[in-house]
Amino acid sequence: MWSNVRNWVVTFVPNNSKLSKYRAKRDFSKTAEPSGQTKIAASNRRRFIIQKHAATRLHYDLRLELDGVFKSWAVTRGPSLDPHDKRLAVEVEDHPLDYGDFEGTIPKGEYGGGTVQLWDRGYWEPEGNKTPEEALASGDFKFMLQGQRLHGSWVLVRMKHDRTGGKRTNWLLIKHRDEHAREGDASAVLAEDRSIASGRPMAAIAAGMWDSRTGHAAENPKKRKAGSAKTKSRTSKVQPRSSDALPDFIAPQLCEPVERPPSDDGWGHEIKFDGYRIQLRVQNEHVTLKTRKGLDWTGKFDAIAREAKSLPDAIIDGEIVALDENGAPDFAALQAALSEQDTDDLIFYAFDLLFDDKADLRPQPLSDRKARLQTLLADHGPRGVARIRFVEHLETGRRCSFEVRLPLGA
Ligand code: MN
Repeated sequence: MWSNVRNWVVTFVPNNSKLSKYRAKRDFSKTAEPSGQTKIAASNRRRFIIQKHAATRLHYDLRLELDGVFKSWAVTRGPSLDPHDKRLAVEVEDHPLDYGDFEGTIPKGEYGGGTVQLWDRGYWEPEGNKTPEEALASGDFKFMLQGQRLHGSWVLVRMKHDRTGGKRTNWLLIKHRDEHAREGDASAVLAEDRSIASGRPMAAIAAGMWDSRTGHAAENPKKRKAGSAKTKSRTSKVQPRSSDALPDFIAPQLCEPVERPPSDDGWGHEIKFDGYRIQLRVQNEHVTLKTRKGLDWTGKFDAIAREAKSLPDAIIDGEIVALDENGAPDFAALQAALSEQDTDDLIFYAFDLLFDDKADLRPQPLSDRKARLQTLLADHGPRGVARIRFVEHLETGRRCSFEVRLPLGA
């Protein structure tokens, strides 16, 4: 997976002049989109991404890495695998390479406001004798895609008679005939609403699950279908129950194994951590860490318990894991750390807030609880290399196994 930057050796300095249009259109104090200041290591292969973007109109943004930026086209109806289809691809401003990891919600009223899903990604290569720069300049740009959803040979052809009077440069995206073409089955590839990075459908992204960069759940730009029970429970405002004291322990909700994660709207997906499910309770700076059966393991996780003292009174559901050198959870390393009593490097991944002070949040929608948890950790959590972390978006599909937790309305 290409977000594993350790495989990249050459450091790339962002080309600021190419991104001036991109930056001029955006207010980075309002949108969580990357500003392009982050240096992204160059890959020895050229990357591409396609982002499904529910802005004013749904479209698919095709971005091909070239000369340190993503050359970008908004494909209005999405790519088609049928070589008879010519899909309008409107050339848009170059995007920074760190846009390749962007999935989330651009606030309403901002440029491109709406939900962005990482729909495909992989590598591309130019076809033919021309350099990609020459091919683009000539208006006949042939390339091969090697993605998770799109494969094989494609061409972008610049339209000669541009009816918009030159304000926009319009191209046509066409699939070449090869073993990856599908005649008469044009839109089948667009049918599945699922991020290749996080597994989330558009609705879960819009609901703000893991929208870690904005710090709050963004407004859902898409009207939900009326009449579904999930929708009703999500939108109804449930007041938190007030109780006299924090309970000592709440039996955690356990996973229900399923063959495949549900792909319909109204579900959130989280990575399944290979660790120990632990309930973190803080009251007057007194911290306890309990297993899912209620055993007190605070003494085993000294460093995490010390960090948690800075938190306000709360009960947080999470999982303690050991991370391997790639940042992936490693259960064997966790067991070794426990047996050697060397637990300083373990991480508590917080994924649910059950009580916030004396407010019982369990009747509230999971998306609300998560937003509140994220704020709580951002406001009171330890600084620097924190051992207590909010469960953010999934980075890659590399090690994804999904724990289906709750309908967002539950
Ligand atoms: Mn777009």
